[in-house]
Amino acid sequence: MRRLVLICMFSVLFALVSTGADDGPLQGFTRENSVAERQWEAKFRAIPSPQNQREYLLRLSAHPHHVGSSYDKENAEWILSKFKEWGWNTQLETFDVLFPTPKERLLEMVEPTRFTAKLKEPALSADPTSNQQNEQLPAYNAYSVDGDVTAPLVFVNYGLPKDYEELDRLGVSVKGAIVIAKYGNSWRGIKPKIAAEHGAIGCLIYSDPADDGFSVDNVFPNGPMRNSDGVQRGSVMDFPSTSPGDPLTPGVGATPEANRLALKDASSITKIPVLPISYGDAQPLLAALVGPIAPKEWRGGLAISYHVGPGQSRVHLKVSFNWDIKRIYDVIAKIPGAEQPDQWVIRGNHHDAWVNGAADPGSGQVTMLEEARSLGELTKQGWRPKRTIIYCAWDGEEPMLLGSTEWAEAHDKELQQYAVAYINSDGNGRGYLSMVGSHSLEHLVNGIARDIQDPETNLSVWQRSHLHEIAEAKTDDDRKELRQRADLRMKALGSGSDYTAFIDHLGIASLNLSYGDEDDDGIYHSIYDDFYWFTHFSDTDFVYGRALSQTIGTSVMRLAGADLLPFEFADLADTIHLYLKELKKMADDERAKLIEQDKEIEEGVFSATSDPRRPRMAPPHVDVPPFLNFAPLDNAADALTNSAERYQEALKKAWVAGISPAMLQDLNQKLMESERRLSTPEGLLRRPWYKHMIYAPGVYSGYAAKTLPGVREAIEQKQWAEANSEIARVAAVLDGETALINAAARELEQPAGR
Ligand SMILES: [Zn+2]
Repeated sequence: MRRLVLICMFSVLFALVSTGADDGPLQGFTRENSVAERQWEAKFRAIPSPQNQREYLLRLSAHPHHVGSSYDKENAEWILSKFKEWGWNTQLETFDVLFPTPKERLLEMVEPTRFTAKLKEPALSADPTSNQQNEQLPAYNAYSVDGDVTAPLVFVNYGLPKDYEELDRLGVSVKGAIVIAKYGNSWRGIKPKIAAEHGAIGCLIYSDPADDGFSVDNVFPNGPMRNSDGVQRGSVMDFPSTSPGDPLTPGVGATPEANRLALKDASSITKIPVLPISYGDAQPLLAALVGPIAPKEWRGGLAISYHVGPGQSRVHLKVSFNWDIKRIYDVIAKIPGAEQPDQWVIRGNHHDAWVNGAADPGSGQVTMLEEARSLGELTKQGWRPKRTIIYCAWDGEEPMLLGSTEWAEAHDKELQQYAVAYINSDGNGRGYLSMVGSHSLEHLVNGIARDIQDPETNLSVWQRSHLHEIAEAKTDDDRKELRQRADLRMKALGSGSDYTAFIDHLGIASLNLSYGDEDDDGIYHSIYDDFYWFTHFSDTDFVYGRALSQTIGTSVMRLAGADLLPFEFADLADTIHLYLKELKKMADDERAKLIEQDKEIEEGVFSATSDPRRPRMAPPHVDVPPFLNFAPLDNAADALTNSAERYQEALKKAWVAGISPAMLQDLNQKLMESERRLSTPEGLLRRPWYKHMIYAPGVYSGYAAKTLPGVREAIEQKQWAEANSEIARVAAVLDGETALINAAARELEQPAGR
C-alpha cells in the first residue's frame, strides 16, 4: 500500500516534466476533441509504473509456463483476475490444440569415435529459477516429426537455399545425410524444410558462439550471452507454406466441436526429425567432419577448423514426441466503446513461454498489463473511449501463434466487420523504438513517437530513432531521405508473433511495437531467459517497459478516440513505390548476374580457377530471364499516390468547413475497409491462408517479411511467367485501394454532405 502512494507521487512529477508542445489538432480529431484527447493522453502516460512491471514479471516468470503446464493456466487466471480488478469486462477463451512434447531425445556419434550429446541445460547457482528442472520442457523443436536415423553428417552453414548452391559447387550432397545448421539468418523451421527438399534425413540446429555466444560478450551468468550448454528451443512448424495455428484445424478455430485432421494429414509438421543443440554438444560433431574446408563466411566462433563434411563419422539421431491435444487459455478483456461499440481496437501480447520466459514474453506482457491498469484508472476518472478496446493475453504463441490464430479464425467474420486495427508487442528491451506494421498507420505511429519521452536521453523517442537511423545509414541517399522525409519509415510485418493472423489472414491493419537494440542477448528460448537474467542484463529498471506502455497505450487511445480514423495513404503509396523500385532492381540484377555467369562458363573461368586440390565446380547454366512487364504496377502505384494526395487535400479543407457526424460515420467504414482491400479472398498462390497481397512471411525466409510477396518470390524463384501474372494481380488490388480512397475523397469534396 505504501509503495502505491509513492508511485502516484512519482507519476505526478513525471506528468509535469513530460507535457509536450501542442501544434495543431491531432490527426483524425476535431480541434475541440483534440484538446480533450491530449489531456487524457497526458493523464494516461503519467500512470504506468516500472515498479509494478517488475512485480508482475517476478510473478509471471516464477515458474516454467509452457502450453499445458499448470503454471501456464495459473498465469492466465491471474491475468484474468488483474483485468477484472481494473474494471475490464474479462473472460477466458479456450481452444484445444495439438502440442507435442518430447518423449525421447537421443543424439550420439557412433563412428569413428563415440560421443553422446548431453542435451541438458544445467542449473546455475547464481540463477534461482534455473533449478526448476522438473517443470522445464527439455530443449526440442516443436512439430518435428518422430524419427530414428543414423547417417553421415554435413555442415550446411545457416541452411539457406544459397548454402546448398555452394555445397553443389563443392561437390557435397546431403542426400541421405543428417545436416547440422547454425541458428540464425532465417527462421529456424526453414532449415529442416530446405534440408528435406535436398534429400537430408535429419536436421540438427545449433547456436554458434559467433552469433550469440562468447564472441559477442561474456556468457551467462557472467554476461548476457549464451553459454556452452544453452539451447534455443522453438517451433519448426512449416507455417509459411501452410498456416500458423493448430495444425489439425487449419483455417477454423480449434473449438471442441471443430473437425480435426488426422495427424498424418497435418501438412505443417516437418518431413524429417529435428533437434536443437548447444555449441557444447555441437563441437565434437563438427570437429569430426572432414571434406572441404568450409567457406570463410560459414565459419563460426569455435576453436576448430570448420569442415563441410561428410567423413567417416556417423551420427545417430532419435526423437519421438507425445502428440497430445492440450487446452490453451486466451484472456480477452474489453472496455466497451461509448459511441461506436462495433468498431474494435485490439491489442495483444502472449503470456505462454518456452520456459520461464522473462524477456519473451514477460517483458512485453507486463507493459500490456500496466496499460490495462492505467486505462482502467482513466475510466474511473470519467474517460470513455468512442470505440471498443479489446486487450488479449494470448496463450500458445511459442508453438506457433496458437492462441491468437485460433481466436482470429474462430471470430473471423466479426473481426473482418468490426476490427479497426491490431497492435502487438512481444518482448521488450532497452534502446530505440522499433516500428513495424501497416503503412496506412505509419503517419500515426510517427506522431505518437514524437509524444513519448526517451528514458535515457530525454529526447522524444522519435528524435532518438531519427538520429540513430542517420548514424546507421549506409548511403548518402539514405541520409538525405532521413533528413527530408517527414516520417521515419516503418518496416513491414513478416511473422514471428501474434499479429500474423490479423494482418495476413484477415487483412486488419496491424502494428508491432517494442524498444531494443542496446543490449545483446543469448538466452532466447533457453532456461536462462528468466527474472535473474532480465533484471541483470536488460531493461533492469523497467523504464523502457514504462515507455512501451506509454507508446502503445497512447496508440490505442488515439485509435479508439479519433473522430476520423487516423489512417493515411501518402506513406503507403510512397512505400509501394519503394518496393516496386526494389523489385525492378532485383530483376535487373538477377538478369545481369545470369548473363555474366553464362559468359564466364563459356570462357572457362570456373574450370581455369578451380584448384585441383580444392575443386569447386562451375554453377549450372540457367536461361537468361525475360524482361518483366512492370507497367501495371507502375500505373497502379501512381494512381494510388494521386488518390492519397487527393484525399489529404479534401480532408484538409473539410476539417476547416466541418464534417457532419453522418459523413464521419461513413468515412470511418471506408477507412476500416482500407487494409481489407489489400487482401484477396483467394490469397497467395500455393498458400491461400495468406490473403494479404502486400505483406507476407517468406516461404524460404520464415519470419522475415516479403513485400509484394507474389511478385518478389516469383522473381527469387526464377518463375518469370508467374512474376508477370502476379504483377497484374497486385496492380488490381492496388487499383481497388485507389478506388476506395478516391470514393472517400469524393465524399469529402461534396459540400452538401458536411
Ligand atoms: Zn514471444
